[in-house]
Amino acid sequence: MLPEPQQPPVPPSTPDPTGKQSSATRASEAIVPTRYGTFQLVAYLESPSEKEHVAIVSGAPVPDVIPLVRVHSECLTGEVIYSLKCDCRDQLDRALGRIAAATWGAVIYLRQEGRGIGLVNKLKAYALQDEQGLDTVDANRALGFEDDLRDYNVAGQILRDLGMTTVRLLTNNPDKVEGLERAGINVAERLAHFGDGTPHNADYLEAKARRMRHDLPLRSPSPPTK
Ligand SMILES: [Zn+2]
Repeated sequence: MLPEPQQPPVPPSTPDPTGKQSSATRASEAIVPTRYGTFQLVAYLESPSEKEHVAIVSGAPVPDVIPLVRVHSECLTGEVIYSLKCDCRDQLDRALGRIAAATWGAVIYLRQEGRGIGLVNKLKAYALQDEQGLDTVDANRALGFEDDLRDYNVAGQILRDLGMTTVRLLTNNPDKVEGLERAGINVAERLAHFGDGTPHNADYLEAKARRMRHDLPLRSPSPPTK
């Protein structure tokens, strides 16, 4: 179903502007039926962090067919607890459905909660948003973090290992496109990929659009004055 691991299994990590040098190696794989269809799950082990990532692969390579890919960052609060503060669960669900229907594709599921700050800090950031009225960007900055600590080098390595060097990418985030291209992946097409808006995630989506360049509809044409 999948191409065999390349030799060497994963090319060495491309130097990241942040100075990180991480690499991912294919560790195990199995066929798993889901409500969206049957996928091949391929687990990768990142070094030196020992994070476990997973590629959720559908279909098989067909000549001249560019795989449909979602690079998705873990969101325990949204995906497991059904939090309405973000749109991650909708986006994951819809990605699995779209990729199951495609000829060939994968969700690359990265274990980098809260744009890379981790669950503990994500909840601290939520509390700051509630207590001080900060948006998601300013709450992360108040905790001493950059706006987005996610590292797409590992995603690039996983995609190369899967033979997906040119992809059609499901994302509203131009930084993700640029991050993958820096990691050696050719993004042939970016496809919009929306979750549902709710009263609870409206401010979050607005901040992603205004402050993180996400291609999302805005509530009003001009920024609110503060
Ligand atoms: Zn989320």
